[in-house]
Amino acid sequence: MGIHHLFKKGRPVISFEIFPPKQTSTIDTIYDTLDGLYDLKPDFISVTYSAGGKGASDHVTCDIASIIQNKYHITPLAHLTCVNSTKEEILQNLKRLQENQIENILALRGDIRPDVEPKHDFEHASDLTSFIKKYGDFSISGACYPEVHCESNDAVSDILNLRKKVDAGAEHLISQLFFDNNAFYSFLERARIAGISVPIEAGIMPVVNKKQIERMVSLCGASLPQKFVKMINRYDGHPEALRDAGIAYAVNQIVDLIANGVDGIHLYTMNNPYTARKICESIASIRDI
Ligand code: FAD
Repeated sequence: MGIHHLFKKGRPVISFEIFPPKQTSTIDTIYDTLDGLYDLKPDFISVTYSAGGKGASDHVTCDIASIIQNKYHITPLAHLTCVNSTKEEILQNLKRLQENQIENILALRGDIRPDVEPKHDFEHASDLTSFIKKYGDFSISGACYPEVHCESNDAVSDILNLRKKVDAGAEHLISQLFFDNNAFYSFLERARIAGISVPIEAGIMPVVNKKQIERMVSLCGASLPQKFVKMINRYDGHPEALRDAGIAYAVNQIVDLIANGVDGIHLYTMNNPYTARKICESIASIRDI
């Protein structure tokens, strides 16, 4: 089923993101993650993609998406990046996805890495989106940035670029993680004013240790509200307390988002079924209302 259809059920969609095992592990380790997640009944599970270099997973993303679909009977969303791929390489990926009956693709540009020369067949995610649309019958999702993409000069040009992605065929958007719901609400307002009417899911990452926060903030530049910083400082050095506080913080964000009528919540699970379970248990009675 095309993921955008899931939003017609009149309740917030709840979805998960997982990533392929490190190259040093076998693909089988993903079963531990999926065994811990499937009975939480996510509406879909997305699988990240890494093209070339370290952690390359050209076919692994498709293999895992196929496992999600065939063994766990959950709709998969396969991430696909384009900046380091030629058209030929993207075509091979699309063929593989089609052969495995994977219908949903999260079309991404990917990060420009200082050590890798981009291939220049695709400059932006919108180019990949148009290319996939021409190729076959896929349902396409895209990424969006409540606190503005790090390469954008301003919020207005970022939204206008997002509009290009939607006009090219993205039927659903998933946001970068954020810790301040007001940033998401302002973004949502800008997007709707710009005529972007597709469902937009809020990306939520439960923070379970300080290292993870530092890494995430350096990668995506999410701003940290004072109450979040206070929480981190208070429980630094107490891993269990920090984990529980991080879960509670994510639950508070989700409750507020659902109360404000969000289309969906995309949980960055970090392959950690424990935190996903705690969160889903906490929102069990409100997610279907
Ligand atoms: P784009 O939409 O191309 O945007 C990139 C920049 O270009 C923005 O500043 C935008 O404003 C600008 N822009 C866009 N279109 C145009 C245009 N037509 N003309 C001029 N400027 C334009 N990375 C991975 O490597 N693997 C993953 O699996 C992965 N999954 C992700 C999932 C989510 C939900 C998110 C939010 C990000 C993910 N990323 C992943 C990271 C992503 O690849 C980076 O954030 C990347 O820098 C931008 O990707 P994009 O698809 O948003 O790019």
